[in-house]
Amino acid sequence: MDVIVVGLGAMGSAAIHQLARRGAEVLGIDRHSPPHAFGSSHGETRITRRLTLEGAEYAPLAVRSHEWWRRIEAETGTSVLTECGVLNLADHAADPRAFAVHARAAAACGIAYELLDAAALRDRFPQFRVEDTRVGLLEPGGGFVRPEDAIRAQLELAERYGARLHRGERVLAVEPAATGVTVRTDAGTYTADQVVLCAGAWLAGLLDDPGLARLFGVYRQVLHWFGVEGSGQDFSPGRFPTFIWQGVSRADEYFYGFPSIDGATIKVATGQLERRTPDPDRLDRTVAADEAARFHHTMIGGRLPGVSARAARSQVCMYTVTPDEAFVIDRLPGSERVLVASPCSGHGFKHSAAIGEALAELATEGATTLDLTPFAFDRFTR
Ligand SMILES: Cc1cc2nc3c(=O)[nH]c(=O)nc-3n(C[C@H](O)[C@H](O)[C@H](O)COP(=O)(O)OP(=O)(O)OC[C@H]3O[C@@H](n4cnc5c(N)ncnc54)[C@H](O)[C@@H]3O)c2cc1C
Repeated sequence: MDVIVVGLGAMGSAAIHQLARRGAEVLGIDRHSPPHAFGSSHGETRITRRLTLEGAEYAPLAVRSHEWWRRIEAETGTSVLTECGVLNLADHAADPRAFAVHARAAAACGIAYELLDAAALRDRFPQFRVEDTRVGLLEPGGGFVRPEDAIRAQLELAERYGARLHRGERVLAVEPAATGVTVRTDAGTYTADQVVLCAGAWLAGLLDDPGLARLFGVYRQVLHWFGVEGSGQDFSPGRFPTFIWQGVSRADEYFYGFPSIDGATIKVATGQLERRTPDPDRLDRTVAADEAARFHHTMIGGRLPGVSARAARSQVCMYTVTPDEAFVIDRLPGSERVLVASPCSGHGFKHSAAIGEALAELATEGATTLDLTPFAFDRFTR
């Protein structure tokens, strides 16, 4: 066997699709049956934008992924990408340089964007109640990706190209040797020339080296769906954008949200990196009613008056975060046969199709055209 892909979520489904497409003999193994709601890739929507606020090094990944989402849609008939626009809202008084840097970066990369003042925001998006100091940067080509559908479509394509998928099988150990890599699971033992590790929040548990394992912190996140039905406002894609609202204090640092997929609710969330989860298998997956009420009170109240204070539902998800919050996409130190892809940190999905392609190129050709040096392990030891 050429390659075994461990974990078939966002990164693994993209990697196995690309490997199978290149004619590699490939096996994918997942402890659950992706897409599922136990890892980092559920909850209906993920923000996507080519204007990558986290750094210019991410832009080629997003641009390439958009190309792949469209191709995957054409080949499977699945809707993956909705370009309804991404609106980044900041307070000009709290941050006078708000957006100037990003606007310059967008212009330099040729990414279309619009700067909106408070009057323009009220005119274009009356769903928001904005202060006079609020400004918006709209990227019309951004929007959202549907994570579950993207994973399902890529696994379907992988199988179409001859990949074998083992669902509901847990990998217990990955043992590299000079001649190949042995993968031991709760159902058997397999060997391959190379292994691609895409185990998301469980990655640390598959690394032998405690120093490396410590790099990957897991953080519980909560998604909330609040009602918009009967608000008299239109929250549908096209009339309401995917958005990121930058707050003005530490308490309301930021929150983000999406247009309504079901016509009845919108999904909103923030990110938390204060409390690390020691073991992803013992994650607290319950969300108390007052957690949702607190979120509404701190983040939404007054800013989106059409959004009801009663949460229709909430869901728990996990970020995997490195010390500098940047991705790791690299060969495992000391083992040329094992590739690791840990690109979560709350912003990885939009890049996943391109990362899958890069992993497949590395595994089959030994090199990739994408510059992955910012995501190397050795930045933590240099
Ligand atoms: C709440 C939330 C919001 C986010 N918002 C955005 C956003 O707006 N935009 C964006 O671009 N990104 C966003 N992200 C980040 C993005 O979703 C992640 O980067 C991406 O989903 C991570 O994919 P993954 O493949 O690493 O993990 P997963 O998709 O979780 O896949 C890991 C897989 O490995 C399997 N596995 C683990 N251990 C084993 C084992 N031992 N044996 C076999 N299988 C195993 C699991 O079952 C799982 O299927 C968000 C993440 C979260 C949690």
